[in-house]
Amino acid sequence: MTTGRELGKTRLPLWAAGFVILTCFAILGLSAWREWETRNADLKNAEIDVANLAHSLIQHADDTFELVDTILVGLVHRLEIDGTGPDTITKLQAYLPTRKSSDRIRGIFVYDASGQWLATTERLDFSKLNNSDREYFQRHRDSPEMGTLIGPPVKSRAGGQWVVTASRRINDADGGFAGVALLTIDVGYFVKFYERFDIGTNGSASLLNDSGIMLARSRDDSGGFVGRDLSNAPLFKGWESRPAAAVYYFKSPLDGVQRLSYYQRSSRYPLMVLASKSRDDVLAPWRQAAAARTTFVLGLVLLIAVIGFYLVRQLVQRQRTAQALVVNEANFRLLAEQSSDMVTRIGLDNRLLYVSPSCVRITGWSSDELLSTSALAGIHADDMERVEQAIAALKNGEAEETRFVYRHRHRDKGEIWAEAALHVTLASDSGEIDGVVAVVRDITEQKDLQDKLASLATTDGLTGLVNRRAFDERLAEEWARARRDGTQLSLLLIDVDHFKKFNDQYGHLAGDGCLRALGRILSTHTKRQADVAARYGGEEFAVLLPNTGPEGCAEVGEGIRKALHDLAMPHAQSPPSRLVTASVGGATSLPSQTTADCSTLVGAADRALYAAKDNGRDRLVMSGQVVPWPARSA
Ligand code: GH3
Ligand code: MG
Ligand code: MG
Repeated sequence: MTTGRELGKTRLPLWAAGFVILTCFAILGLSAWREWETRNADLKNAEIDVANLAHSLIQHADDTFELVDTILVGLVHRLEIDGTGPDTITKLQAYLPTRKSSDRIRGIFVYDASGQWLATTERLDFSKLNNSDREYFQRHRDSPEMGTLIGPPVKSRAGGQWVVTASRRINDADGGFAGVALLTIDVGYFVKFYERFDIGTNGSASLLNDSGIMLARSRDDSGGFVGRDLSNAPLFKGWESRPAAAVYYFKSPLDGVQRLSYYQRSSRYPLMVLASKSRDDVLAPWRQAAAARTTFVLGLVLLIAVIGFYLVRQLVQRQRTAQALVVNEANFRLLAEQSSDMVTRIGLDNRLLYVSPSCVRITGWSSDELLSTSALAGIHADDMERVEQAIAALKNGEAEETRFVYRHRHRDKGEIWAEAALHVTLASDSGEIDGVVAVVRDITEQKDLQDKLASLATTDGLTGLVNRRAFDERLAEEWARARRDGTQLSLLLIDVDHFKKFNDQYGHLAGDGCLRALGRILSTHTKRQADVAARYGGEEFAVLLPNTGPEGCAEVGEGIRKALHDLAMPHAQSPPSRLVTASVGGATSLPSQTTADCSTLVGAADRALYAAKDNGRDRLVMSGQVVPWPARSA
């Protein structure tokens, strides 16, 4: 059995398809991985940016509050030493405006123990103003704590704008509460500073105090964010356990924007800064580039997939074609090799291009021995011209196929009769005649049988001589030939004497033997190639002698008669010799001299035979000697 693999079916298309799919997925996977890496790198860079920004902001806040602290400490120290008497206050009122030299400090205020304003940098009438309702005031009054208190942002009573307060308690000489020194910083100062940094349209920089109250925020023109309590925001959950500074991703509770940020707490003050960028802003350039790159990669993958699909389909089709070819080839080989006929392919130079194995039976040589030898070798010389002509006619395109019978040499058997059927072959590419396919069959047996049948049809079974039918044909042929050639044609008719009586006396079998003996005599007396000895019917024989005159005819007739007589077969009923004898009638004609047909020759010989019978049998009478009928009766 032929397996699939032998038929040329491989897993190649499957492998190729797998390779294409793998390549596509590898490209997609690699590019996705690369995009992810790029995105993460962009985020990382943004984290570094916001971290740097946060470092700057906290430094700035620390510096600002350090300055504020210094001023407050100095002020409180002075008031505690000098007291809050009118002299001191007057001096203070003169001194304070000089401290407001920097744009950081909005105002400096001193309140007495009842919250009444004592001195300020602001130029206004504060005689009726009281700040005892402020939270920072109450906290200082209620707590002996002496540190600086940074309060939540408040709307300034002096100017109406948002300010951040920093305050310290003033003690009297006994350590009791003597008032509060307050310094305000304009929120706008921070905002202005924060806006110096490029953090994108959706980025933000914020300053908050420890309890999550927003002190200042960039891009906060309306001031809507200042003072907001963000202590409930996730950043402040578990605040204590968080590191002092870290990257922090969140969705802003203020504007709902996804942000990446860096927060940093001050090591010196209850403050923190939060620098953030919108994640969308950070990733926007990457998204744009990634979309372009991904489009390109997808296009490439699609192209590879389409080309791959096309190639795989080609492979499958080729494999199918190859399989079909292999099957066809196997079928044809089987036909050629199992056939008893010899199948050969002959090139234009008459060399054998292919010989099927049955050549051994037909020629005695193996196909290996015959390959590349001449296809005409071994053909009988007498048939060669005919065969060459037939093949030449095919190669010249005069005929597409031809069939002929010829003799061929067999290595062991000598000569065989073969029949060849030839057909031209055309080149598959050019369509030109490129050779001949010949199917050769050994017909020796058939030919023998045919010959045998042919001879049976023309031979007499008892004597082996030509039978009556064949004799009539030969007679007509020879008559025509003699007429053509102007030659003489002679005929002898031989009839056994008293043969009926012979049969009666000796039996039919003996009669047959007698006829065979006469047949042998006829054969030996017709020596020339063209002579025809035939059994004419019953015990009557005929001998046709072409190109023979009356003398020759008489000589042959007399020879036959004498030979039978000399055989001396006894025949008691045949007087006077008492031997088997025959009467012979001969006639000669010159067909070229007459318009009559061959029956006149037969008639003449027949009349001569009767004359021989009448004249006593066992004799030869030539038609020229026959006496006309009236004379005979006379
Ligand atoms: P005649 O001398 O006048 O020729 O006398 P005949 O007896 O030979 O004449 P006829 O022609 O009347 O007889 C021919 C006989 O030849 C008749 C038949 O018995 C015999 N005969 C014809 N064919 C054969 C044959 O094939 N074998 C045998 N044994 N006898 C045959
Ligand atoms: Mg007879
Ligand atoms: Mg007879």
